[in-house]
Amino acid sequence: MVSTEQFDLSGKVALVTGGNGGIGRGIALGLAGAGAAVAIMGRNEDKNQSVLAELEAIGGTAMALVVDVTARDTLPDAVQAVANELGDIDILVNNAGRAHISGGILKETPEDWDAIIDNQLNSVFMLSKIVAESMAARNFGKIINIGSMYSIFGSSLVPSYSAAKGGVIQLTKSMAVELAEYNIQVNAILPGWISTDMTTDIEASEMGDVIVARTPAARWGRADEFAGPVVFLASSASDFITGASLRVDGGYSIA
Ligand code: NDP
Repeated sequence: MVSTEQFDLSGKVALVTGGNGGIGRGIALGLAGAGAAVAIMGRNEDKNQSVLAELEAIGGTAMALVVDVTARDTLPDAVQAVANELGDIDILVNNAGRAHISGGILKETPEDWDAIIDNQLNSVFMLSKIVAESMAARNFGKIINIGSMYSIFGSSLVPSYSAAKGGVIQLTKSMAVELAEYNIQVNAILPGWISTDMTTDIEASEMGDVIVARTPAARWGRADEFAGPVVFLASSASDFITGASLRVDGGYSIA
């Protein structure tokens, strides 16, 4: 039987990377609203503190860490800091990331390539590896990775981003297969076009209107529309779902 209690995340500890930004903030507030204690990670202390205040206003326990997810040597200590303050992580949302519009592989430098793969894909591997160890020991875990429409589509403008996001769904499937025996579910969410700092310029340009015309829902998505999908994938309501990629795109990818 389904009950709303299934979506109650009280007693659970969540870590949201990039939780101080657009989609990550929407996810962090959603998880806190469902009762989880939430840690956010980002590089910018001011943005961290602003979202931390919003999380605390919801009433639960929260913390914010200034961490660069590409600084891999710092990640074990950061995860330990969350465990010390909030408890072992039950829900990991790998959301942090940036795009670099290089204009295609003829223009993209090897340095740009490495930086985006590091930022968007290697960070997911590193943090999942660290957090999954304690999840496996406790026989419980939910890992949710944020991909993109470019996990599926090719792109002439952002090849490293598209390659990294494609890698995210393959890594999601591989982790789902491996970690199932430890009762850890690993799923991906693929956002369509969402209004955030990352997309402000695109939305304001002519392309913003082209995107609306191309999207069956006929609008851009909002960051707060990721709360529901993530709470679902973090809850017991999705215990038999693993390795899936859930598109949150207003139908963009199927039209
Ligand atoms: P924003 O630019 O609004 O937020 C990005 C977040 O990632 C910020 O919190 C930023 O924090 C954090 N971040 C970036 N790099 C690092 C890093 N090296 N270490 C730690 N934190 C980092 O973007 P969105 O909210 O739009 O994007 C969130 C995710 O969603 C990304 O993975 C993006 O690729 C994906 N996505 C977004 C879409 C959209 O249309 N907006 C579409 C498809 C996917 P700080 O600056 O403090 O480091």
